[in-house]
Amino acid sequence: MKESVVKETNIEVRQATQPQKRQLDYIKAIPLFSIIGFTTLVVVPWYGVTYGYSWLDWTLFGILYLITGLGITVGYHRLISHRSFECHPAVRVAFLIAGGWALENSAIKWGADHVRHHAFTDTDDDPYNAKRGFWYSHCGWIFYKTQPIYEKFRAPFLRDKWLVWQERYYIPIVISGLLLPALVSGLFYGWQGAIGAFLLAGVARVFLVLNSTFCINSICHLWGTQPYDAKNTSRDSWWISLITLGEGYHNYHHAFQRDYRNGPKWGNFDPSKWLIFMLYKIGLADNLVRGTKGGISS
Ligand SMILES: [Zn+2]
Ligand SMILES: [Zn+2]
Repeated sequence: MKESVVKETNIEVRQATQPQKRQLDYIKAIPLFSIIGFTTLVVVPWYGVTYGYSWLDWTLFGILYLITGLGITVGYHRLISHRSFECHPAVRVAFLIAGGWALENSAIKWGADHVRHHAFTDTDDDPYNAKRGFWYSHCGWIFYKTQPIYEKFRAPFLRDKWLVWQERYYIPIVISGLLLPALVSGLFYGWQGAIGAFLLAGVARVFLVLNSTFCINSICHLWGTQPYDAKNTSRDSWWISLITLGEGYHNYHHAFQRDYRNGPKWGNFDPSKWLIFMLYKIGLADNLVRGTKGGISS
């Protein structure tokens, strides 16, 4: 039933859409991402050489990379955007917070852009249209203002109160994700520890998780194999799964977008599907969707 509602919505949007001119976002995206890029590429190495990072800073970096990465891949992507499984409300909120810590916009914005990517892959209405080249699909697209068509894709997500809640408190959630490692390291190593953890496990971690997600839209639409569907530019690049926690099997994902697995074979490196399956085994997730030749099944 839900599937038909979404499909109907997409059909309405398909009929209404016209390619729209993009405008650069001088106020929000360009300054914000310039600060994050400069801090990660210049300030973080400088601080490391001058003051050093503790084992705790590196541990927090690794833990938060995994938590926020899975917040995006399992939470924003497979749970919210594709409804690949259902889960306990507490688990859902945990994923919304973990995904929010990744600074990839609210789950509503992320999901609306992503559904649009699947609906209009490789066209002007695809927010990360790979036909516009590597840099545009990797990160160039975020420096442009959102197209008006976005509102039509946003509407279905507004029916979910927890998604609306997460969008309302998105900024405090992001800030808490940056300050949490600083607080933990600060308790052990004072101000120097707090600043080191903020830079490494806060800002640099955000930069790296962002770029891991960007690789799906760029590399996984440029390089790799197309064993499942050659009608669009999506590709399987297994090595991208190593940094994206399983999302590199992108050709399979475009062919079976509701499947809770991106790597369907047992040997595929897909920690995101392992986590979903583990949640299922302990009773916190249900109705896992699998792609089949004839369509989908739970
Ligand atoms: Zn794609
Ligand atoms: Zn997807």
